[in-house]
Amino acid sequence: MTSPVAAEGAGQGTPAPATWLIDELGRQRLLDMGGRVRTLRNLTFVLQLMVLLGCAPWLGWWTPAPMVAVAAVFAVCDRRMPKVARPEVPFLVAWVGTLVAITAGALLMDGPQAPCVLWYALAVSSLPGRFTTRGIVAGVTLTLALLIGMAFASDASAVLDRPSLVTFPAMLVVGVALFGWAHMHSEVAQRAEAVMDPLTQMLNRKALVTRAAELAQQTALTRRPVGVVVGDLDHFKNVNDTAGHQVGDAVLRDVAFRWRLSLRAYEMAYRLGGEEFLVLLPGASVVEAEEVAERLRGAIGAAPVAGQHVTMSFGVAASADGEAFDFDALYADADAALYRAKRGGRDRVCGGPGEAPPRLEAVA
Ligand code: GH3
Ligand code: MG
Ligand code: MG
Repeated sequence: MTSPVAAEGAGQGTPAPATWLIDELGRQRLLDMGGRVRTLRNLTFVLQLMVLLGCAPWLGWWTPAPMVAVAAVFAVCDRRMPKVARPEVPFLVAWVGTLVAITAGALLMDGPQAPCVLWYALAVSSLPGRFTTRGIVAGVTLTLALLIGMAFASDASAVLDRPSLVTFPAMLVVGVALFGWAHMHSEVAQRAEAVMDPLTQMLNRKALVTRAAELAQQTALTRRPVGVVVGDLDHFKNVNDTAGHQVGDAVLRDVAFRWRLSLRAYEMAYRLGGEEFLVLLPGASVVEAEEVAERLRGAIGAAPVAGQHVTMSFGVAASADGEAFDFDALYADADAALYRAKRGGRDRVCGGPGEAPPRLEAVA
């Protein structure tokens, strides 16, 4: 069976896995930032070029040449990045090229006293927000190695006479990386908190609204189906009443954990509130949505959750192939199916083709 996401993503290329250098989010940000950052980055290149041209009578008329080469490499990199599975590779080629250009420029000028030594910090400023902490540390280490190596290779006695020639630019490099990392980290954490339920660490309703709008846009073109699974704990009020609210909270946390273990990475789960959860399944038919719900039902009922024996009822629905995705309509269908599951005796899945016919005494 074709995986829902493989089917949905066909033609866009398979996303590359996370590495120690960059994770999937960083890769997405690398592409997303590309367009936003490009204009100001190009402006920085122009300003640097103007500074080099303005100082050329003193520093040498060759000095703008490495800057032009760096700009040309970045222009090629900008075009390559959106076309490849690992956009970080062209970016790194251009980035290391920048370091080499600064190092070569410094060696050809006054070594550790060359004014362009400060520009190592500009290069380092582009690492946070794109790469993992390990990736940033690796980038800073490479920059410091080139700075120190260049300084000693060019004029070791000057460095030994005045260590500040190296320590000050090195501090600037490390400081820019630390500030950049702190700002990006706090912004990413703040954004994550806005869409995360603090108790279960599941995505919240706000995230669901955003994702549903995205899916509506995508499927307006592809007309692929979308499955919705809604799950609600059975008689959860009894857990709170008999074992206490704290145990109730622990049950909710563990239920969320068990859902995560049972779901695949692309099967995004949300806490709607209280003890009600939802999964969005792009590309899934109602049969596949029912399979996912049965998998979740089995995972919850298989063993006590936080010491409590709990069960869960499910309602499923899916848009038909070729039909537009209307989240509100699908949610209403799944919710109605969940209501039938409760009325039908709980601990069951309704809404799919496997839905048992209503028992007369339960409906009555
Ligand atoms: P049913 O099988 O019909 O769904 O019964 P139920 O008891 O699960 O449903 P009901 O809607 O009557 O009760 C839900 C309970 O969930 C009531 C509320 O106190 C509890 N609850 C909601 N949010 C939280 C929470 O964050 N923590 C805890 N511990 N309890 C919560
Ligand atoms: Mg309930
Ligand atoms: Mg409920």
